[in-house]
Amino acid sequence: MLGIGLLAIFGPTLLSLAAVLFVFPTVPGSLMDNETIALAISVLVLAGVVWLAVSVLVRGSLHRQKVSGSRPVPPESFTDVPNPQWSWRSNKAVFPKRMVTVVAVAVVATALDLVLVFLIASSSFPASLGMLGAGIVLATLFGSIAALVAALPWSVPSEVAVADDGIHFWYDSPYDRRTAREVLSWTDLNVLRSSTPGGADPITRLVRFLRIDSENAQIIASEWPLHRAVRPSSPRTQTPPRKGEGSGTPSPERTFPHVTTPIATETSRSQRGVACVRCRVRYPGLEGFRLLWCKVDHFYVCRNCWREGCQEGHGRGIKATSKPSRILGAVVLGVAFLAIWYPAVSYDYNLTNAWRNTNPTPIADLTPGEIAKVDGTILSSSLVAWGGHEVYYSKTGWSWTWNTTDNFELGDATGTLLVATGAWYLIYNGPHMAWWAPHTTMWVYERGDRVQIVGSVSRLGNGTLHLDAQIASQAAAVPLITLEPSVMSAALLLLIPSLIGAISVAGAVVLLARRVRSRRALHGQPMLALDASAESRDPNRSWIPNGRGTTPRKRGVGAMGVVLGGVALLAVYPGLGPRADSGYWGLGFIGTIVVLSAGLFSYMLLFGGVGRPSYVAIDDVGFRMWFESPYDRHLSDTVFPWAEIQDIHMTSGKGAHWVLRWTTGEVVNLYMLRRSNLNLLLQEWARRGSRNTDPQRT
Ligand SMILES: [Zn+2]
Ligand SMILES: [Zn+2]
Repeated sequence: MLGIGLLAIFGPTLLSLAAVLFVFPTVPGSLMDNETIALAISVLVLAGVVWLAVSVLVRGSLHRQKVSGSRPVPPESFTDVPNPQWSWRSNKAVFPKRMVTVVAVAVVATALDLVLVFLIASSSFPASLGMLGAGIVLATLFGSIAALVAALPWSVPSEVAVADDGIHFWYDSPYDRRTAREVLSWTDLNVLRSSTPGGADPITRLVRFLRIDSENAQIIASEWPLHRAVRPSSPRTQTPPRKGEGSGTPSPERTFPHVTTPIATETSRSQRGVACVRCRVRYPGLEGFRLLWCKVDHFYVCRNCWREGCQEGHGRGIKATSKPSRILGAVVLGVAFLAIWYPAVSYDYNLTNAWRNTNPTPIADLTPGEIAKVDGTILSSSLVAWGGHEVYYSKTGWSWTWNTTDNFELGDATGTLLVATGAWYLIYNGPHMAWWAPHTTMWVYERGDRVQIVGSVSRLGNGTLHLDAQIASQAAAVPLITLEPSVMSAALLLLIPSLIGAISVAGAVVLLARRVRSRRALHGQPMLALDASAESRDPNRSWIPNGRGTTPRKRGVGAMGVVLGGVALLAVYPGLGPRADSGYWGLGFIGTIVVLSAGLFSYMLLFGGVGRPSYVAIDDVGFRMWFESPYDRHLSDTVFPWAEIQDIHMTSGKGAHWVLRWTTGEVVNLYMLRRSNLNLLLQEWARRGSRNTDPQRT
């Protein structure tokens, strides 16, 4: 289902991008051929379609094998009628406004696509071809999202009956009758209600979701209070298990001997931020992102409370949680990845756009800080004003590269300025042959040549006007040059900022909404502060040192160091400014590697694993660890109970390391244990494990 959705949205978008790229000629000197990129995208989408088709076929045949023997029955042949036991009332669903909006968006997007294609075909706007292409890609993206939403099946009941056991629904379509819910019992509604902190009324949601008309809604609303259970006084009361989960839910008698009850009693001075709803301990700053979001209770809990109060995920294990640290990490990583490519895109777009769409500025009118086009004569004292040299590449042989150290004076009727060549991007041939280059035929610029240059204007310390030449050609050849912003740059120029905005807004909305819901679930009770001094290591256990333990502060400093190290690396190479020939594209490529590795590294430091304990101990319950920070003691597993260890094994492949798998399905990296302590854990677990499975042995 997810695959189909992704393909439905991104398939047409990518294909339109590919089509647009096919139409446009490659800009000379650009990094990759437009057609190569277009071909790659098309192949990617095609592979997705094939993969989906194969998986659907395989599933279909597997399904058929299972039901072989019993012929499929067309649902129309069922002679279902609404059960006469209940008094049915027809549901005159309001005309689906959402559907109209969604279909309208899809239609408008398609129309926009057609108009843009027509404009490109008639090519009456040659200057803005790139923008038109970008428009097509964006319109297709929004259009296919809307079309997918419109295509999703919404079942709306045609008749509704309110009975003693719950609300019954009747659907006209026999398929809906097979797949949609026929009855919603009052018990289920009560469960829904109690699992929603803040006490949102499930009836309102039900009426809106199933588009029940106002008359039926009133009847349901008047019946509901008769069946509503009295709300439990405390939010910490156990949530009743959901229907169909009974088998997996641990029995209420199950005890958790290794869970240390939080000892916070003092009201926290600051009431801002986020707290575990069950023990009410406030977790400041980044520590708040280490809480677990319980998908059943819909509030944040610390790890201790998740084990005890949530019964380890209400029978669903770690799958019933969502980690805010992951959301934060994904948003930060996504934004950083997009941002690192933006300089390259905007640099490319601004320069090519200035070349195509601006007129030369008189030198006297130039203002520092702008990108400008100048048209003038080289006034250099040496004969060759801007030359180059040959370099040998083992793969492609000899090639020509322009000098980055040449400087020359350029003058027009209004004044002169100094031109530097350190940041050249696209340089066309000059009028004079480079006689010193035996392997290549290249043409250079000499004193007296008239040239057109696009570059960044600045003013030197001594007041001289200065131009960084980025695109240059002899003035006589300018009419022959068809350089313009590439479709890719034009599309990405819009796409990157909108994606950055969308990702950060979506992440912030989810994280903020969860904080608000958790706060509401506290029902005005004050948050508590964790008293660092109140807890100490149990002196009755023999603690074994495990090196210097980590604290949140140490981990924060470490993560900060990793990020600053990455930034410093990029500042050294490719550096803060544009590079000759490649502009900022090198920053994109190298930056991607740096962002990924620094991101993963600092994420592991801040949220991954359980931090590094300073001491470990062994007793009958399990393998105990002592953390220096009280937050670590509440947000990490401080005990590996023998009974809950599924297995301990070494991962295979590169970077093999020891991991521990819980019976809940969670996996913990054991990097934080010293070698000797890891061996201790392995030995003890093997000893106790074999004793458990073989009661004969002593
Ligand atoms: Zn808690
Ligand atoms: Zn829970």
